[in-house]
Amino acid sequence: MKKAIVIGSGFSSLSAACYLAQSGFEVEIFEKNSTVGGRARQLVKDGFTFDIGPSWYWMPDIFDKFFADFGKKTSDYYQLDKLNPAYKIFFDDDTITIGDCMDSICDEFERIESGSSKHLRNFIGQAQENYDIAINKVVLRPGLSPFELVTKETILKVDQFFKTISQEVRKRFKNPKLVSTLEFPVLFLGAKPSNTPSFYNFMNFADFGLGTWHPKGGMYEIIKAMKSLAEELGVIIHTNSPATNILVSDGQVLGIRSNGKNHIADYVISGADYHHSETLLDKKYRQYSESYWNKRTYAPSSLLFYIGFDKKLQNIEHHNLFFDTDFEVHAQEIYDEPKWPSDPLFYVNFPSKTDASMAIDGQETGFFLVPIAPGLEDTPELREQYFDIVIDRFERLTDQQIKKSIIFKESFCVNDFVEQYNSYKGNAYGMANTLKQTAFLRPNLKSSKVKNLFFTGQLTVPGPGVPPSLISGKLVADLITKTINK
Ligand SMILES: Cc1cc2nc3c(=O)[nH]c(=O)nc-3n(C[C@H](O)[C@H](O)[C@H](O)COP(=O)(O)OP(=O)(O)OC[C@H]3O[C@@H](n4cnc5c(N)ncnc54)[C@H](O)[C@@H]3O)c2cc1C
Repeated sequence: MKKAIVIGSGFSSLSAACYLAQSGFEVEIFEKNSTVGGRARQLVKDGFTFDIGPSWYWMPDIFDKFFADFGKKTSDYYQLDKLNPAYKIFFDDDTITIGDCMDSICDEFERIESGSSKHLRNFIGQAQENYDIAINKVVLRPGLSPFELVTKETILKVDQFFKTISQEVRKRFKNPKLVSTLEFPVLFLGAKPSNTPSFYNFMNFADFGLGTWHPKGGMYEIIKAMKSLAEELGVIIHTNSPATNILVSDGQVLGIRSNGKNHIADYVISGADYHHSETLLDKKYRQYSESYWNKRTYAPSSLLFYIGFDKKLQNIEHHNLFFDTDFEVHAQEIYDEPKWPSDPLFYVNFPSKTDASMAIDGQETGFFLVPIAPGLEDTPELREQYFDIVIDRFERLTDQQIKKSIIFKESFCVNDFVEQYNSYKGNAYGMANTLKQTAFLRPNLKSSKVKNLFFTGQLTVPGPGVPPSLISGKLVADLITKTINK
């Protein structure tokens, strides 16, 4: 039996481990932290349950496909509820509420801009076509060659790789609030809408067409499910076990070193951040230089606050976006001239609004996220300064006092991303999906310098986000099984 060692236990690593175990590999996971899940771990304290990272369950079909590949259903592991409303957006002088179906979303669009629902249905129809192509054809290819992007469907849409989402949205909608609403989903891809090919409008179908879901108990339920599945398949998981070296002899991987011991394997797959994974190799075995990494466009880092309130809050939904300031300026401060934002947009979720298991009765669990440029200076003073900005704006826009009701507070920022995940520059969501960083133009799944060494996760293909990480694990496992069967 061939043995594979998987570094890390985020979504991509757990996915790769499950597929490899199913293909008959003996699989061991080595995770540096004390619990599995990587960026999707959980914080449970004083009666509050927080997802530390991801909170939007989008593209339920990808999760269904993952579990179906093992003869399972998501409902074997967790209860999934469709959120209605999906989310609420706060602007300076109004709010937009996104319902759980196209009819109600169209009504809301009409309220803001008369005649806009016709354009919206047309736009989402196109986005659905792109979703079918992207998810069923393009995304399942391993990013080894430019020809993978060339299908009879993508040839017909080649112009959409050279126009941007921003241009497409602005052509159809005049009201700036609707423009922001439709540009929001591509932020998950980690780049500015004005730098994201319009083909990626399939994210708008994921949003309005497929809806926003919530696993009861939070996103960590998916991690628990994948851990159980991996263990059912025979995967052995070691926590508190950082890989300190990837061992190589004569250009062939030998295994890893962890906690002072060598662990031998036929294959090593690293789901840890790609740049860090390469630092575990001797210099001659690294594929990408420091200057390569430095020149990439990263998805943002984040300043996060996990807040427990001693009361239920008013005028909020499960997911809330605060788009009451200028997105263009904030985006420039993330991507073009990295600095702490002058007037940031932010996002807040209150899972206890729809899921009683996330907080004690009568209390509220709140997660605040401010996107910031990776690599910024991170000090307690800066965190506090932004906490005050965000809370003041939140109080004004939701018309309530919350400061005195805070009974729990923890923060997480650039330094924590580096320390806890070995993240390059403290990025939160990996490498952005710009045109120059798509598919075969991303760091490779397979090492070109070390035989039987592979990589997976949000810095390689297909890109950032939970569903792409599940796919990344499958892609790398398929690549390995194909190598063996050659
Ligand atoms: C704040 C935040 C909000 C997000 N929101 C969403 C969302 O709402 N929806 C969505 O779809 N996506 C979201 N994402 C993105 C999503 O969480 C990630 O894309 C995904 O979890 C990445 O999984 P991964 O396996 O690539 O990496 P990770 O989860 O980072 O896993 C890598 C693992 O490797 C481990 N590791 C690192 N170095 C070593 C070493 N030397 N030895 C052993 N182990 C090591 C790390 O500890 C970690 O467990 C969010 C991310 C963040 C941070």
